[in-house]
Amino acid sequence: MSTLEKTASRAPAPRERIFVTDYALAVDLGGTKVEAALVDPTGSLLSSSRHRHPTGPASTSDQLADAVSLAVRDALRALPADATLLGAGIGSAGPIAGTTGDVSPLNLSAWRDYPLGTLVGTQVPGLPVTLRMDGICIALAEVWMGAAQGTSNVMGMIVSTGVGGGLILGGRVIAGATGNAGHIGHVAVAGFDDVCACGARGCLEAIASGPRTVTWARGQGFSGETGEQLAAAAVAGDPVARAAIERSAMAVGRAIASASALVDLDVVAIGGGFSHVSDDYIALVGAAVAGHSDFGFVTKTRVVASGLSGEGPLVGAAALVHRADLIG
Ligand SMILES: [Zn+2]
Repeated sequence: MSTLEKTASRAPAPRERIFVTDYALAVDLGGTKVEAALVDPTGSLLSSSRHRHPTGPASTSDQLADAVSLAVRDALRALPADATLLGAGIGSAGPIAGTTGDVSPLNLSAWRDYPLGTLVGTQVPGLPVTLRMDGICIALAEVWMGAAQGTSNVMGMIVSTGVGGGLILGGRVIAGATGNAGHIGHVAVAGFDDVCACGARGCLEAIASGPRTVTWARGQGFSGETGEQLAAAAVAGDPVARAAIERSAMAVGRAIASASALVDLDVVAIGGGFSHVSDDYIALVGAAVAGHSDFGFVTKTRVVASGLSGEGPLVGAAALVHRADLIG
């Protein structure tokens, strides 16, 4: 009888059956940086394994590949001698190309249909590699370790330099035909026609992201240039800064209400740097949802702050390995 079977025969709590030396390689590719780390089955990062390298819109394809490869190499070097590597999970900025591992991140123009999964796979030969959109990884992380634990119909969101999201419905990841379901940042919000980098108008990202909110405020006379300056001005009583923050939150709330009208969400967990622009940002978004319509199935959707730290994207990427049961 194996050790695992002996443990199971005593009907222990599930955690007893976890081998904490079984690690996932987690990779998070974003528009400004790529990070990699080793994550155990309890969702804890091996701190010595966490490494990052810059990406950025001006990077060439070779520079991006080098950044990913170096981050992965450094993370793998931290694997303890007695540990087992189970596989790699990759969260990538979208769009992605299905579940093949190919990516075309909007803000990394050097990569179009680039085989990121294959690139990482060369560093973990023989092991499974799973790639999904970063928004899906955020949703996974919130259900696994964050603010959406115990719920089945969830959107995880990031409001930062961009706006991203991912869906879990009926307890399963919804990836869609091309892997891009949950792209809430490119849902059009009624009443706006801001031009978006994707080519459309009125996208949530073009209205509510940190940089676009600052741009709107500057058009109204605000002289600052960063989200931090906008936050400070609002605290100091600048009405334009406050109006910009409320405009962003209202647009996010409207988009969430529309998403909930379509797929009936229990909870939306919001993280990302700009979600901290004011102490009441999450409450403002929640109020926009609660007051959106007379449909209780829309207004019941709870809006909460992310339960994750800055490790969330890596935890979510690791969930592609450790919580494969959630992947549709
Ligand atoms: Zn767009």
